[in-house]
Formats: sequence, C-alpha cells, structure tokens
Amino acid sequence: MEKISIRTEIYLGEGSLDRLSEYRNRRIFVVTDPFMVKAGLLHMLFERVHDSNEQYIFSNIVPDPPIETVTEGVEKLAEFKADLIIAIGGGSAIDAAKAMKLFAHKLLDQVDIPFVAIPTTSGTGSEVTNFSVISDTEKNIKYPLVSDLMLPQEAILDPVLVKTVPDFITADTGMDVLTHAIEAYVSTKANDISDALAEKAMKLVFTYLPRAYKDGNDLVAREKMHSASCLAGIAFNMTSLGLNHGIAHNAGAKFKIAHGRMNAMLLPHVIEYNANYKPGYSREDESATAVRYAEIAKTLGLSAPNVKSGVRNLMQAIKQLQKELNMPLSLRDCGVDKAALKEHSQAIAEGALQDGCTATNPRVPTLEEIVQILNK
Ligand code: NAD
Repeated sequence: MEKISIRTEIYLGEGSLDRLSEYRNRRIFVVTDPFMVKAGLLHMLFERVHDSNEQYIFSNIVPDPPIETVTEGVEKLAEFKADLIIAIGGGSAIDAAKAMKLFAHKLLDQVDIPFVAIPTTSGTGSEVTNFSVISDTEKNIKYPLVSDLMLPQEAILDPVLVKTVPDFITADTGMDVLTHAIEAYVSTKANDISDALAEKAMKLVFTYLPRAYKDGNDLVAREKMHSASCLAGIAFNMTSLGLNHGIAHNAGAKFKIAHGRMNAMLLPHVIEYNANYKPGYSREDESATAVRYAEIAKTLGLSAPNVKSGVRNLMQAIKQLQKELNMPLSLRDCGVDKAALKEHSQAIAEGALQDGCTATNPRVPTLEEIVQILNK
C-alpha cells in the first residue's frame, strides 16, 4: 500500500505573490540571500505584505548554506518570536529556512511555525519537499535532512521573480529539475502518480529550458520551468532520488561546483551505469531500469527501435541539451585536474554510498563503480 499526500498549497502564475496580502498581524521571519535585498526583489515582497505585520529580515544566506548559518537563524527566529516564516530565494534560502524551522521545533520546543516558500530559481523543488541540504564546510560535505516538519504550508510560484536569474544559473537549476524527474522515475519507490509528475516535468524541461536560457524575460518559459521544478519536487518527495544526487552532494561540496551543474554532468553517466548499458550490450541483458529509461526516451518523442537505442538516445539528448546550454560536460571542464580527482574520489565515493539519496537508486553501487563514474 502506498500513502500519497501532497500537503503544500501551491499558488502558481504571474501575480501569485499577491497571496501575501492575506497575512495580517503576524511576526514574519524572512529568510533570504543578499542578492534579493540588493536587486530589490525583497521590495516586491514587502509591497504586498500588510502593514499590520512585523518583519525580521535574515539575509545572510549563501549558496549551499552551512550549518552555522542555520544555527544563527534558529537563535534569531526564537528571539524574534516569529509566528510565520517566509523563505524567498533559491534552494539555498528555502533549505536554510526549513532547517531553521526544524531545529527551532526540536531544540527550542517552539510550536510548529507556518512556513511559506517563494522560490526565485526553477530548480530544487524545495518549496514542496521535506528535504533540506545543509553543508559542513569544515569537512566539505553536504547532508540531506529529511523531515515532514520541514514541508512548507504554502509555495508561491510567481515567474516574475525568476526573470533576473542569469543564463548559466537558469541552465544549472533547469538541469537539476531534469535530474530530479529522471531519478524519481527510476527510483525503487516510483509509483504511477510520481511517474506522471516526473514525465510532465521532463517534457517541460526539454521544451522550455532552452527558451528560458536564451531569453530570461520569456515569462511563458519561466512559468513553465517553475511548474516543472515544482512537479519534479512533488515526484521526488514521494520517491526520493538516487545515486546521481548521492555523488553530486559529495563531489559538488568537495570541488565547489553548483548543485545543478554537478547533477547535469553526472546524469548521462549514471544513466549508463544504471541501465548497465555498455558496448556489446544485448537485448537479453535488458535490465528493468533500461526499460524505464527507454520509456522516458519515448515520452520525450525520441523514437527508438529497441530498449538499447532508447537508452542511448536519452543519453545523447541530455548531452545535446547540455551543449545547447553551454554547460561543462566533465569535471575537467570545471577545472578539476586528474590529481585532485584521484585525491578525493575515494572520499566522495564513500560519502555517496552513505548519502540517503543513494538508497533508492535502482542499482546498488559499489565504491569502485562510483570511482569509475567519477573518472568519466
Ligand atoms: P541557490 O539558492 O544556491 O542560488 C544560486 C545563486 O542564484 C545565488 O547566488 C543566488 O543569489 C542566485 N539567485 C537566486 N535567485 C535569483 C534571482 N531571481 N535572480 C538572480 N539571481 C538569483 O541555487 P539553487 O540551485 O536554487 O539551490 C541550490 C541548493 O539547493 C543547494 O544547496 C542544493 O544542494 C539544494 N537542493 C535542495 C533540494 C531540496 O529538495 N531541498 C533539492 C535540490 C537541491
């Protein structure tokens, strides 16, 4: 028996930020990053918040938020006696706010504070997930926290807030969406509902990510990518993720590579590994996962005479998309030399084996196999 619940209310489309005017007489703790303040996006938020509210702005969030920032936030949250948390920003701001809410609840015995997530990137789906990824900057490790206490009550998906995202971040975050959808689809916990959500998310990415990348002001493409991110988030909130994320959390933290970029780089190689696809592969060897990848290829309109070609077409389509988005295709392209890779690959592989996301990967990896994937 599967229990499927979607607990976050979603406000989608241009103008959805107006939803904030409903809140009155609240003590609002706003979690955001310095860019939001500098670029005036926070101003758009306050224009809509009724003046009966009090606000505290916590704007120290940096990409891949460290645990120290979360600890500081918990103290401020408690001091301010917030009764509403609004996170506005990319996945880093939303994740940090979620972790603050979780620790405030657990450590300080604070009542469950309502939480509104307003993404300004289309990538993590964090606005609808019970995940939060926090970094240990001393050990260069990222930890995914998982708890339903972190599920936002509301997600506001206003595409206007995403218009300022530069093209390379549009590419990185968009490929994060694709990785979420593909990993959800082949997860050991995939079900018909998550499949439908993941399929739609993948189709939207292939159609609208190149448009959003080429023209950040294309509001239709921005809105579709916001939907895709949210759909993939709901999907993987049901199924968890896979080895791609297990490796990306560790390699991204070690080599300081943006999360979506790291995911994208790994994606064709993890597909090849999971599908057990290799030269000389015969039809008899077709793993159930290869069939699933071939289904994805079909969903994307990549016609193929058999499973083997379906898997290959999917890998090629992903690489083609990466090229169209001018993304690096290897760690070498990101400036990681052979010596650095050799030095860290064992630790990255160990971290990936322990990462919670790896548990739902369709193929159980060994340490050596992860090192091999990294070396590709
Ligand atoms: P991010 O939040 O780290 O932001 C990346 C950069 O984009 C920052 O410099 C930020 O200032 C900038 N930015 C954000 N919105 C902008 C806008 N509207 N205009 C211009 N610049 C803008 O990036 P992200 O990819 O959204 O989040 C990545 C983080 O989320 C990582 O820590 C990753 O591990 C985590 N993550 C979480 C989940 C989850 O389910 N919780 C899933 C995937 C990834």
